[in-house]
Amino acid sequence: MSTAAISEQSSRRPRLDPNAETILEVKDLQVQFPTADGVVSAVNGVSYELKLGETLAIVGESGSGKSVSSMAVMGLHDPKRTRMSGSILLDGQELVGASPQTFQKVRSNTVAMIFQDPQSSLHPFKKIGSQIAEAYLVHHKVSKSVAHKRAVEMLDRVGIPNPARRAKQYPHEFSGGMRQRAMIALGLVNDPRLLIADEPTTALDVTVQAQILDLLNDLQREFGSAIIMITHDLAVVAEVSDKVLVMYAGRGVEYGTTREVLADPRHPYTWGLLSSVPSLSAALDVPLNPVRGNPPSLLNLPKGCSFNPRCDYADRVPGDRCFTELPAFTEVPGEPGRLTRCHLAEPAEIFAAEVAPRLGK
Ligand code: SF4
Repeated sequence: MSTAAISEQSSRRPRLDPNAETILEVKDLQVQFPTADGVVSAVNGVSYELKLGETLAIVGESGSGKSVSSMAVMGLHDPKRTRMSGSILLDGQELVGASPQTFQKVRSNTVAMIFQDPQSSLHPFKKIGSQIAEAYLVHHKVSKSVAHKRAVEMLDRVGIPNPARRAKQYPHEFSGGMRQRAMIALGLVNDPRLLIADEPTTALDVTVQAQILDLLNDLQREFGSAIIMITHDLAVVAEVSDKVLVMYAGRGVEYGTTREVLADPRHPYTWGLLSSVPSLSAALDVPLNPVRGNPPSLLNLPKGCSFNPRCDYADRVPGDRCFTELPAFTEVPGEPGRLTRCHLAEPAEIFAAEVAPRLGK
């Protein structure tokens, strides 16, 4: 999908309901892993909130902290090997420092997660229908036949043809797209209020990917859940999300509605992400301009702004602030709820004059 198509797609999502109930509030979350080589700071102060019916896309390269921060919400980090601080308020319950029993309850009643590779969630030697029915039985005092009926209904709901027959098959008898649908059925069988989808379409071809994203949009409308979509793909962001958190080196660097962030981004890293997507409307002789270099080691982050070794705009900031002072994650003046982390004084003007023409905007 081109950058112009990405912007247009993002405007098709229904408007957010300002009165919807807040299901998740993450404040200044830090996740560190002490290792023999030093402390890996995987998440360095991430904040966001999510309401029922909303989808937040968390986007960034590998190692940006997007999966680690979401796994913290699920309680999937080993507490003996992880240092965590800040706050994760899920449905009013504080999860930082919560007991394994609390997380177990949360995973059962409130949150479900789907992964890139359905093989990792589906048991290879159990029939698909039995796996979904078992997950339902953990939380509902019903007979096995009622749970099986529910499993077949869920398979039908996620668009699997002949669901009664398919329920009796094993994961290896399903195609990749069908397995992903089965995993979504498994994730939604207990009506979670929050669904975390970690790169759910990365392994699929584009046609199946579009079908799965449409399915998630439809199911969200039907079930009213909140969704966190973890992705590196801006086309996925545009297709499914209401809000975006762009992460770099364990920190949020840009946050706002999908339309704001994709149409008028304010951070050089977001400009780089958009510039690495081909544009149908840009001139043919305009080359792609992806972010140069590689993300920094989380064992040894650069001083000042973590993005400074890869940033083409650091010399526009007076003094050497980009190399000595970590920018705060602050609200864009006049745009409540929209945040960026950059010392540039006039990012909107730079984007409009220098970056947007390259993107064909
Ligand atoms: Fe670039 Fe400086 Fe902004 Fe960091 S603070 S993104 S180095 S201009």
